[in-house]
Amino acid sequence: MRYDRVCYDCGTRTTAPVARCECGEPLWLETDPGSFDWDDVVDAPGMWRYGPLLPVEPPGGLADAAGGTPLVHEPAVDEFAGARVHVKVEGENPTGSFKDRGSAFGLAALEAGAAGDVSAVGTVSHGNMAMSTAAFAAAADVPCVVMTPTDVPPARLDVIAQYDPTLLKVDGDYGRLYERTLERGLESGVCFLNSDVPLRVEGQKTTALEICEAFAPDVPDAIVMPVSSGGHASGVWKALRELQAAGTIDDLPRLYLVQAAACAPIAEADAAGADAVTPVEGGETVAYSIANADPPSGTRALRAARDTDGAVIAVDDDAIRTAQRVLATQAGLSVEAASATALAGVRKLVAEGVLESTDDVVAVATGTGLTEATAAGSTAATTIDIADLDDNLDAVGE
Ligand SMILES: *Cc1c(COP(=O)(O)O)cnc(C)c1O
Ligand SMILES: [Zn+2]
Repeated sequence: MRYDRVCYDCGTRTTAPVARCECGEPLWLETDPGSFDWDDVVDAPGMWRYGPLLPVEPPGGLADAAGGTPLVHEPAVDEFAGARVHVKVEGENPTGSFKDRGSAFGLAALEAGAAGDVSAVGTVSHGNMAMSTAAFAAAADVPCVVMTPTDVPPARLDVIAQYDPTLLKVDGDYGRLYERTLERGLESGVCFLNSDVPLRVEGQKTTALEICEAFAPDVPDAIVMPVSSGGHASGVWKALRELQAAGTIDDLPRLYLVQAAACAPIAEADAAGADAVTPVEGGETVAYSIANADPPSGTRALRAARDTDGAVIAVDDDAIRTAQRVLATQAGLSVEAASATALAGVRKLVAEGVLESTDDVVAVATGTGLTEATAAGSTAATTIDIADLDDNLDAVGE
């Protein structure tokens, strides 16, 4: 297999296993969808059913558990949002987020030589990507290094440490660490699978392939998803372009990307009509997984939204918490605050008249809330004596 990279913006190609174009924008893999049609999907687990669109053989093992997530429709959620909402439950992935799609592809492609001669993988993350990369590296028996900021909460480190990667807390500028590991890692034999690198984006495009196949021969009116680095949105856009190039779909679903208002560089660039995303001074938000003040694929994500006639919007923490509660109490779905931005975004887009009540909208619930303990449980529980059991049961039954 060949793993040439191409720039979505200036079209420059390279055979070098690098992440950035000379123009500064992120690269992605150059792939040819040919005349792919839904008849061409193969009988393979999860995301590997799109083998004809993925330039690597299914590796088996944990990778079989990546992707293949359900779309859940729950009328109470429609009522809340004001449109027909299909929740894409990415929490079903083995480490609880869509990052597993990129990790599964990344590890498989590495073993196939996509990054040259490397003996280890790494990532710069303190959240889902760290967990995911460490898990897939463990399963592939490849050494893994995870670099986190120094102020990462200990509980978060405990979750990552389960998979036994080398954990390094790095003092210094996090954005610089992200880019420096990409530039320097390969020289050390370490391929960094950071958020928006070509090998990760390629696996993450399968989210959109699954969505489009579920609606075939139509497409949903819109896909609404949270955005941070822009890696997932880039993969979704790439998949839509490939399906359109192959003639599998005619019209593209509109892509709406949602940020937390406290840290919304891409939404601000969209609102300002800017062509490129510039860093902001990010504030605190409950959606910490998507609080990236200087997103490496921000401009590419902005292009994805505009190219599909969508937009990038922001929602505040109250709206995020409300949407998160609705998903849990009305649909039984525990999602991360970051993921709840998608549903909060749908509600806002309906309120603004951008989406209509008859629209079929996919809200991508990017990650499970089950790895994100909140304090609510300890205050919600009442202690009773077993002698009072019957009375309490009667009360519940009423
Ligand atoms: C990583 C992540 C995102 C953002 O994805 P990007 O590719 O960085 O834009 C959204 N939600 C969750 C739960 C994540 O883990
Ligand atoms: Zn370029």
